[in-house]
Amino acid sequence: MAFSLILGQTKALALLSRALKSGRLAHAYLLAGPDGVGKTTVALDLAAVLLCRQPDAEQPCGTCPGCRKFQSSNHPDLLRIRPDGAAIKIDQIRELKKALSFAPFESRQRVVLLEEAHTMRREAGNSLLKVLEEPPANNLLILVGNAAGSLLDTIVSRCQVIPFAPLPLALAAEIIRRRRPELDEAGALALAELAGGCPGQALALEADGILALYRRIVEELLARQGAAAERVERALALAGELAEVKEGMELLLTLLRIFCKNGMSARTATAACAFAPEALRARERWNLHQLSAKMAAIDLAEQALARNCNRGLTSEMLLLDLFDCSTPLT
Ligand SMILES: [Zn+2]
Repeated sequence: MAFSLILGQTKALALLSRALKSGRLAHAYLLAGPDGVGKTTVALDLAAVLLCRQPDAEQPCGTCPGCRKFQSSNHPDLLRIRPDGAAIKIDQIRELKKALSFAPFESRQRVVLLEEAHTMRREAGNSLLKVLEEPPANNLLILVGNAAGSLLDTIVSRCQVIPFAPLPLALAAEIIRRRRPELDEAGALALAELAGGCPGQALALEADGILALYRRIVEELLARQGAAAERVERALALAGELAEVKEGMELLLTLLRIFCKNGMSARTATAACAFAPEALRARERWNLHQLSAKMAAIDLAEQALARNCNRGLTSEMLLLDLFDCSTPLT
């Protein structure tokens, strides 16, 4: 199986390989774990071997018509369902049910991949439940979801759950460097650490410019603070950029929280921590009370985002707080 190319996730791979070898795959799997740790990659590798016409030792041959169609994302027996907007909607599940009422077109087995399955609301989830209760023959359903999501218990209980975990940092850094060979070892390790051992999240941080903006905010915060008017101006300029980071705003807030937290525990930070220098500078710059006030400001911003408050206003309030513009000026 192409699983051999995947790094880490030993437990998940062992469970799936064993089921595949013994020909005893469940009818539905839930690959559950944090974003960016390889769940979709593993699901697609499993699909690849199931859609190959002449797999050899659980490896897709790579040359048969099934493999070629799979490689060009054009296989009629692979259905990928992704959120339409913020969630997988009930109409998408209805379409899926229609598709499942027919036999697979070319392969022995159709593979249905439901990505970000945790975005399904109750209505869509209940509709899918019927499929899981009486799965049509020759169909394998693979749900991929965030473990912290709100999947219905009834759905989870009808799937075989394969848990995925964040990777050790060195391994995550190795995966990041495979995808981004231009990064040096220290840079990849720093990214891995920021993303909590989830290489996919680390690569998204880089790609969306989130990391670059985070770095600028931290550098400006750590730089010598000027006069009050200057601080307000800098805070508002950065707030404008932050509000533009649509999908990644929550992630950026998480990074800022880690920064403050590292600052609070800087004296115990180990030298191996890629962010130790930043943490030490933060600790020199602010006392614990000031750092915890910054954390509180980040909490408020996160709560505001969760309530769908205006992102521009939320960013401005946060940055003004972080730059100490909200307290009486001295
Ligand atoms: Zn093949």
